[in-house]
Amino acid sequence: MDVSRRDFLKISGGTLLGAAGAVAPANDAGAQETVPELRIRDAKVTTTVCPYCSVGCGILVYTKEGTVIQTEGDPDHPVNEGTLCPKGASLYQMVNNQKRLLKPLYRAAHAKELKEVEWDWTLDQIARMVKETRDRTFRATSKS
Ligand code: SF4
Repeated sequence: MDVSRRDFLKISGGTLLGAAGAVAPANDAGAQETVPELRIRDAKVTTTVCPYCSVGCGILVYTKEGTVIQTEGDPDHPVNEGTLCPKGASLYQMVNNQKRLLKPLYRAAHAKELKEVEWDWTLDQIARMVKETRDRTFRATSKS
């Protein structure tokens, strides 16, 4: 069966109009009742940068009463223009997931289990190891 472009538009346009008529409310009052209130209405919006990788995508963070209620890509950011990869799109979970770790976990050499440790101890360990590595491997270059 040959279908011209004009026929195709007639058929598809008629189908779309028919479908819209089937689901559209009969009057404006009905339409108002079916539109849910936006979750981000009256929320404070803060701009930030995604912490996950060096691309540095812009993020909008919506908060209400100090709680993050939504995160999304910043359409005005020159790097991502509103888009986010799946990792950045899951940023909301970083603060709201109930399984989120709140303290560092440490597994000592040859140990089988992780144990919860304090942040001060962890940061001291990291600083000590960075300094040890730096002292052991740093080579001054001569300027000529
Ligand atoms: S959204 Fe994805 S690509 Fe962008 S900075 Fe975050 S992790 Fe990197």
